[in-house]
Amino acid sequence: QNRHPESNEQIEKVLESLRLDDEKLRQIMQYLEKEMEDGLSPATHKNADVKMFPTYVRTIADGSETGQVLALDLGGTNFRVLLVTLLPQSRVELTSKIFVIPQSIMLGEGANLFRHLAECLLEFMRKENLSLTGPRYPLGFTFSFPCKQEGLASARLSTWTKGFTCSGVVNEDVVKLLQNAIDEKKINVQCVALVNDTVGTLMACAYKDPNTAIGLILGTGTNACYVEKLDKVGTWDGDYNEPKQVIINMEWGAFGNNGRLNYIRTKYDEEVDLSSVNPGKQVFEKMISGMYMGEIVRLIILDLMQQDLLFIGQRDGYGDYSTPLFTRGGFYTKFVSTVETDEGIAFANTRRVLEDMGIRNPTFDDCAIVQHICKNVSKRAARLAGAALAVLINRINKPNVTVGVDGSLYRYHPRFKRNMEKCMKTMVSKNIKFKLTLSDDGSGKGAALIAIVADRYQ
Ligand code: ADP
Repeated sequence: QNRHPESNEQIEKVLESLRLDDEKLRQIMQYLEKEMEDGLSPATHKNADVKMFPTYVRTIADGSETGQVLALDLGGTNFRVLLVTLLPQSRVELTSKIFVIPQSIMLGEGANLFRHLAECLLEFMRKENLSLTGPRYPLGFTFSFPCKQEGLASARLSTWTKGFTCSGVVNEDVVKLLQNAIDEKKINVQCVALVNDTVGTLMACAYKDPNTAIGLILGTGTNACYVEKLDKVGTWDGDYNEPKQVIINMEWGAFGNNGRLNYIRTKYDEEVDLSSVNPGKQVFEKMISGMYMGEIVRLIILDLMQQDLLFIGQRDGYGDYSTPLFTRGGFYTKFVSTVETDEGIAFANTRRVLEDMGIRNPTFDDCAIVQHICKNVSKRAARLAGAALAVLINRINKPNVTVGVDGSLYRYHPRFKRNMEKCMKTMVSKNIKFKLTLSDDGSGKGAALIAIVADRYQ
């Protein structure tokens, strides 16, 4: 791709550190299995990285659920309020409104965060002309941060992730905090279930496909959940009635926090970690998800520039350190998708992205190298996620396993799914057929399904 064979070799050397061959992946899969066992066992759970939280969601939706519920979805970029109407034959009607969570609230006091959520809920209900008196609406709260659940409507936050650091929330029951804020506004809404976005995604997908046994998120963060047999869940403290299963929220983003993955981490990963709000945490997530992928690419670009391997002869152009290229977070993960959309030699998209980054007149070589970097970074992420999924599918060990997937990285990246599937074909037992299904509006719909089932049994 590059006209300078010498620098080509040097570039390959940099990118080699991102490559994960099958052997390395198999090793990672073994580590993950071990971490999962640690998370599930009462003796080791406390210190385990992969927490494997039982969610108290036992029955998987089967399409027969009907009714009207509200849902809140907080877990990353957007906060949404939804009104979900479940109709016969798996039909769903949905209206929703997106609200912004200002940075000042993300980093401020917890009380303000929950007050803000309640205010948005009230505004939405007014807009939808929902009665503000009378019987309480059930509400499912999709709250996609690591929580130790104590019941379907009770969950203590273990730690914030994905850029949130609100004070006074860790170790508190977030359902109580939300319900208090709702009651303060005298809104007739009862939070009946706390739902992780992975679980919502699994449920929404199961509503249409009964083989669904895994929920996966590839968005701001990454995480997965799956249906586990109760006798494998040493930490289970509920009843052992039918169905003898529970959905486990893995919180797999924390895989590697104990240093197990250090041998595959690059200096770019370390840099991303150090400049994050949670250094040393979410090691697996930081190698995969949307919040970090663009930044990894940006750091590699800067490193290659420093070594005079990229944007050669354009020194004048980058005297300006205020350009996005020199700004932390300046290379958005969506640019990785844009760059990888280019096929052939014109590099129209890549050129546009680079010009937006402050590079004047990037050459053909520049474009080819930047695309090469993006491909390597996103492929590593896809292979890591794929290998981790293979561990789950092999463990579930049923003839057909469907994975419900949600998140912008999976949805919009042009080859993330393909790269994941390719890796999974190698890693999943040959007797199992698997399928990845995009779950539209999974976390909202799923939360509604769970809330309806919960409300029915209250
Ligand atoms: P969340 O996970 O916060 O609920 P999303 O699933 O939309 O929400 O994920 C947001 C993340 O997806 C952001 O980190 C963003 O960088 C990334 N993203 C957005 N658009 C794209 C895209 N076109 N290609 C790849 N990643 C994207």
